[in-house]
Amino acid sequence: MKRYTLPVTLLTLTCFILPLHAQDEEKADIDEWQTLKVEAARDPFEKTKQFTINFSNYTIEEWSYPLRGAHVISPFGGARAHHAGTDIKTHPNDSVRAAFTGEVILSGPHYGYGNCIVIRHANGLETLYSHNSKNLVSVGRWVHAGEVIALVGRTGRATTEHVHFETRVRGKAFDSSILFDHDKNQLRKEIFVFEKMPNGTLRISTLKAGKKEEGKENGKEETKAEGKK
Ligand SMILES: [Zn+2]
Repeated sequence: MKRYTLPVTLLTLTCFILPLHAQDEEKADIDEWQTLKVEAARDPFEKTKQFTINFSNYTIEEWSYPLRGAHVISPFGGARAHHAGTDIKTHPNDSVRAAFTGEVILSGPHYGYGNCIVIRHANGLETLYSHNSKNLVSVGRWVHAGEVIALVGRTGRATTEHVHFETRVRGKAFDSSILFDHDKNQLRKEIFVFEKMPNGTLRISTLKAGKKEEGKENGKEETKAEGKK
């Protein structure tokens, strides 16, 4: 059983970008994030305590890796502080793409995030893309999965060009590697169940052949996260 964790409240996000490999030229880069106040998505738990997203049915038009050809330079979690996103890198001014179809609910400079975009998706998720050199879409715009929404940069508190990518439910970030295989730049073609637990935390499970297989509970303050190697 794999377990995923997330602080109950992520009002203050702290980001540390750490070099993962000695051969990487990127130097240690400590980001301190300020509060990112983004209106939570339409509450997917408004009428039910759980909702399901069936990625096994998603066609190539319905999802996109946010930065094609990228490698992870800093995973969700992190050794020194909670990192609410996954840092992925290719080269400066590369194309940042919408992971799924949805509406842009934030586009602009936002404290340490630099030029930041948040998209609210019809499937109940939100995604965030930051440090962009330039945002190409404005608030209210509907974007399709795979559409180029920004260019890779290092605006905000970043010392190397990369995308800080977050996946969220109701404004709370969870490990994007639950949904994406970052090594392969692929969406995990599974059925995900998002449950609101009695204590308000988020639990993410996968279904296979109609049977619940593994629980990924986000509850306690914990810095270890799947995707950290
Ligand atoms: Zn980051």
